[in-house]
Amino acid sequence: MKKILFLVVLCCLFINKQLVAQNDNLVIVIHGGAGTWDRALMTADKEKAYKDKLNEALEAGMKVLKEGGTSLQAVETAIKILEDSPLFNAGKGAVFTNEGKNELDASVMDGKTLKAGAVAGVTTIKNPISAAIAVMEKSEHVMMVGQGAEKFAASKGIEIVPSSYFYTEERYQQLKKAQEKEKAAQEDTTGSVEIDRNYKFGTVGAVALDKFGNLAAGTSTGGMTNKRYGRVGDAPIIGAGTYANNEACAVSCTGHGEYFIRWTVARDIAALVEYKKMSVEKAGNEVIMNKMVKVGGEGGCIILDKKGKLSMPFNSEGMYRGYLRSSGEKSVMIYKDK
Ligand code: ASP
Repeated sequence: MKKILFLVVLCCLFINKQLVAQNDNLVIVIHGGAGTWDRALMTADKEKAYKDKLNEALEAGMKVLKEGGTSLQAVETAIKILEDSPLFNAGKGAVFTNEGKNELDASVMDGKTLKAGAVAGVTTIKNPISAAIAVMEKSEHVMMVGQGAEKFAASKGIEIVPSSYFYTEERYQQLKKAQEKEKAAQEDTTGSVEIDRNYKFGTVGAVALDKFGNLAAGTSTGGMTNKRYGRVGDAPIIGAGTYANNEACAVSCTGHGEYFIRWTVARDIAALVEYKKMSVEKAGNEVIMNKMVKVGGEGGCIILDKKGKLSMPFNSEGMYRGYLRSSGEKSVMIYKDK
């Protein structure tokens, strides 16, 4: 009898410890891309529309976390809201390729298990982030591309839409403008016409910390305006555009993908946190504000660690971004100062 009582007490103590050990510092951080409107062209209405959507995504992600959901579920919820909005270069608002198509990329990573999933070059998946999660959870693979990825997504009940769903007039005009500038630059013999480097990135991403103390990261994009057929950027590449590891931090990037791939930006930041024990702020600055600036890699990222410390560095004119803590502390910004 005494033995049983002792065991029961021990069990209670253990369960209590587990409950107490739960993390109550829930956090969600999002970005809507580093390629913001030039400040001079930003109107009060536009700014409000962007901020309202970022707020909606943050609130929805936090609701998931507060209801006991995982960081992965919060990341998916927040990103889907941004994907469904024409404001951002992901899902509905994806930019056009050189051929006038919309080819979408997305990826996700679970910081606890280091499982990851990604899709690239898909043209009919309404929410590529959900397809990336399906690849992670329901296949033996990490990345699927093109029609194979679409077939797989459909087989897992992910919503498929006609590719015309992704047509928006504004993005199409951006393509036309980029192509005109490219042509002018090619025909110019004086060297005075520059190729348009103002790609209007606009990728979306989220990182979150849940009550179990686990981190997750996700990124979704239409890539870069006027990209050539089959081009894949950093967003679906684990270690480049997305990375999450409970031992380090969760990272989602936006910017000129070719640079983020070559400098494995997301993993580089996580490695500095893990091995050099740098704070997320220091690690982010080292890679985004130092390394990337030196080589001309424009962009930024959001970073979150297990203690809820976060950083949102960018070297572009602005980056749509925001965070929300379970305490209610919140910030939504576009430029450096507002
Ligand atoms: N990183 C994305 C890409 O290169 C673009 C972006 O961030 O908007 O595809």
